[in-house]
Amino acid sequence: MDCVGARTATSAEQLSAALLEVEESSLWDVDAGHAAVELERQAEELGDEVLIARARLCRANFLVRTDGVGAAARQVYDIHRWALEHGDRRLRSRSHLACANVERLLGDLTRNLEHTMSAVELLDETATPFMRVWHHTRLADALAATGAIEAARPRYRQAEEWARELGQWQRLVSLLNNWANYEYAAGEYLRASEVVRRLIEDAARYGVELDPTALDTVGLIQIGNGEYAAAEQTMRACIDLHQEGYRDTADDLAEFLITLAQAQRGLGAFDRAQASLDESRVLCVARDLQEMLVRLHQEQAELHAARGEFAEAFAGYKTFHLAQEALRSRQRLDQAQTRQAMFETAEAREAAEHFREQARRDALTGLRNRRYIDEELPALIEADPELTVAIADLDHFKRINDQLSHEVGDRVLVQVARLLEAELAAAVPDGFVARLGGEEFLMVLPATAVTAATVRLDRIRRAVRGYDWAEITGALPVTISMGVAGAHEAQATTLSAADRNLYIAKRAGRDRVVA
Ligand code: GH3
Ligand code: MG
Ligand code: MG
Repeated sequence: MDCVGARTATSAEQLSAALLEVEESSLWDVDAGHAAVELERQAEELGDEVLIARARLCRANFLVRTDGVGAAARQVYDIHRWALEHGDRRLRSRSHLACANVERLLGDLTRNLEHTMSAVELLDETATPFMRVWHHTRLADALAATGAIEAARPRYRQAEEWARELGQWQRLVSLLNNWANYEYAAGEYLRASEVVRRLIEDAARYGVELDPTALDTVGLIQIGNGEYAAAEQTMRACIDLHQEGYRDTADDLAEFLITLAQAQRGLGAFDRAQASLDESRVLCVARDLQEMLVRLHQEQAELHAARGEFAEAFAGYKTFHLAQEALRSRQRLDQAQTRQAMFETAEAREAAEHFREQARRDALTGLRNRRYIDEELPALIEADPELTVAIADLDHFKRINDQLSHEVGDRVLVQVARLLEAELAAAVPDGFVARLGGEEFLMVLPATAVTAATVRLDRIRRAVRGYDWAEITGALPVTISMGVAGAHEAQATTLSAADRNLYIAKRAGRDRVVA
């Protein structure tokens, strides 16, 4: 037994370590995707819910990258909901960041920012150094994306500092890449150049290979600075590198070719630029890359204009604007559909939960019912040897039904239910009452030994008899008898032991408690 336990614990630890590696891998490549799937299988085998959630989050993050946000948005939010309730701070922080990424891709910059802020707020001493650098980088990105580059800058600086202290060079290079991109997008070409200079220097100093995406940034900024020859070189290196080993992000190639065309146009090498654009167009059409097509139309129009082909340039700009409009409305539609799908599942889940809850309650009294007891009591008994139960049965209830009416009988049942609930709540705060059926109720008293429970139950019995029933039953009294049993009796027989004692109480003259 010990041996199995020990082995399980080690493999949970090993699995956790392996997950950490995927969670914090700098390359979200195909290998990381496969690893996430395998780790999820192992976590399921172990039955460790937190490890399962961590593995699923990795897989969902990967799915966002490969299959797009629509395919994975729901999974991310499902995991997030679970994490908020059951996860530790790390998992909650990571799932907030995953939601932020979904929102960013759906184009909701405000929600992106909100989730990123939560992800950062959740960082404490349990956070890993990687998380501190990465989550602050994402916060800076989220701020910059809303146009708040001024607010983003100190975050980038802070993240840069930590990345240097921790020697996280891969992170450093990728955060400088993002930073440079946003400075460039904000029209801050000088600042962008300054960041890119650090990016290139640091990459060289610390032996980090610039990935094609980083080279694309470098190329763009060189174009912004009018360094077209250098930009063409950079983009050729970028495309070579992409061909060599970064093929899993094949769609990027279309983008790199457009940047290359921009550099070539700047150089006045119009034919080369046209060839690059044609190559990109083939990819865009084959892969239906709408967003890239818009950029391509724009660059095509610019190229015509640079060549003095003004009629073509004018037609090209028109195409560009139409494509841009079409893209925007398609994105809005995609967004609406994804949100709708996410909303519907949340709604369906709530409805199902509501029905499940309804099915476990008694319609007349609103108390828990027999089904609830059958589902929950065994575990309660198992977990709490001090737990005591009592079955309460109304005395001569048939008389009330027969001499007054069934309706009056119902009112009595409702009032007894209220009394039992109120009295038990006062006596044992985490106790509860259920209606077993007919005029039988079950009272559950956690962490209360039979002797102590019997004293309290007798007080409840007297409260029922002492209630002013005249308004409902006139001259007829209402009393209850109870049979009590402790959970220490053989589990399956706790209820029947209580039932036997109830029978004894009835035989002994009713209106009494028998333990
Ligand atoms: P005892 O003291 O031995 O328990 O006598 P009793 O009359 O209570 O005996 P018994 O358990 O045989 O009768 C229960 C009655 O409760 C029979 C049934 O008609 C009535 N009853 C069961 N469910 C309901 C209900 O939902 N509403 C009403 N008004 N009566 C019910
Ligand atoms: Mg009865
Ligand atoms: Mg009965």
